[in-house]
Amino acid sequence: MKVCKFGGTSVASAEQIKKVAAIVQSDPTRRLVVVSAPGKRFNDDIKVTDLLIELANAVLQQQDAVEEKLKNVVKRYESNANGLGLDHAICEVIEADLRKRIAEAGSVTDELLMDSLKASGEDNNAKMIAAYFNSIGLKAKYMSPLEAGLIVNDLPARAQALAKAYDNLSVLKDSQEIIVFPGFFGYTEEGVLRTFERGGSDITGSILAAAVKAELYENFTDVDSVFCANPKVVNCPVEIQEITYREMRELSYAGFSVFHDEALMPVYKIGIPVCIKNTNNPSAPGTRIVSVRESNHSPVTGISADSGFSILYVSKYLMNREIGFGRKLLQILEDENISYEHTPSGLDDISVIIRSHQLSPEKEDRIVKRVETELQADDVHFRHDFSMIVIVGEGMNNNTGLAARAATAISKTGANIEMINQGSSEVSLVFGVRKEFENKILQALYNEFFALSATTLKR
Ligand code: ASP
Repeated sequence: MKVCKFGGTSVASAEQIKKVAAIVQSDPTRRLVVVSAPGKRFNDDIKVTDLLIELANAVLQQQDAVEEKLKNVVKRYESNANGLGLDHAICEVIEADLRKRIAEAGSVTDELLMDSLKASGEDNNAKMIAAYFNSIGLKAKYMSPLEAGLIVNDLPARAQALAKAYDNLSVLKDSQEIIVFPGFFGYTEEGVLRTFERGGSDITGSILAAAVKAELYENFTDVDSVFCANPKVVNCPVEIQEITYREMRELSYAGFSVFHDEALMPVYKIGIPVCIKNTNNPSAPGTRIVSVRESNHSPVTGISADSGFSILYVSKYLMNREIGFGRKLLQILEDENISYEHTPSGLDDISVIIRSHQLSPEKEDRIVKRVETELQADDVHFRHDFSMIVIVGEGMNNNTGLAARAATAISKTGANIEMINQGSSEVSLVFGVRKEFENKILQALYNEFFALSATTLKR
């Protein structure tokens, strides 16, 4: 049995949904289908999830625009229903469902209202796609995550599945019909709806694939494969044919938006291979994510870059001798509910790399004051607008001179390397640089590690 997940662009219009049906129809083992909400049909289009967020904000702020924003969402489903030849009744069901969710405003928390409206994007799309499958003779059934028991913890907008969800969902493998399952959300044990992080339908697919022990998790999107570098920055980068879970995890952490980084965990744990494929070109082989990679052409598999990082710099003479210094510093961050990415350190100083969206001027002030007074630091300050450039490859360990090649390529762009971090697994090498150099560096590293082989190689 294969679990297939179709992302937003794959289900954005009637034309796209017809392609999805053809893909499902072409392989009888594709029996569990996870769908996103309708995404962008063209560049400037707005994803239904974003329309729903606007709607939820309008409801929460009691704006007059609620009705108009509701209609904008319903119109997207109407256009798809028309194109698919479905009865208009399904749009009435969807509109009634949205109104019911909106009517809960005031009696549920704001967070729940937001999650509920966001989740309606995939929920209603799954209902429509199941109806379409049946209309063309593909026996299918919409499955509610509540009924199926996709149990998650109680974190609004960033829920995670609990272990018992896998047991509950495992029975889906016995279904005689194709199951159409909405991505992106589950329910707490108390039955409260919670969404995953944005892009979280990938996570649903992965949970289901692990639960039913699928032979393959196919993740359909709108590119033929994962590229070794961002194609918006590097012209025609090399396509990756095979990549390990660890490599993919490192790449999707920093800017590889093709696959949600949390989505690897469930399948990784039990070794279910993932294949990223293109709904618009399903015969292309795609990129396979596996435990062990057969091909090993080059030590580097991909290079990613992501901006939006801040650095908390702390120095104190004889820091290395002070027992518990690091723990106390990280405790201060924990008290502010902040997670950290890297902590490169010297003898008397340490930098903590943090995603900037977690900070605010007030939080920074509190942190700086506490580090000064409680840890008696000599210097403590925040710096902003950094990017992390990540070079990834299983073949990097035992490969001498790689860091030197990377650092030389970076230095030629004129950028100063503010931080270097190599995890002990040696799967990745991270460089912290000022954001303005990000694209130049990505291009320089691509030239260094890939450009020569780009015309002859498919990794
Ligand atoms: N529709 C949600 C989003 O836009 C989840 C997803 O598509 O994976 O983030």
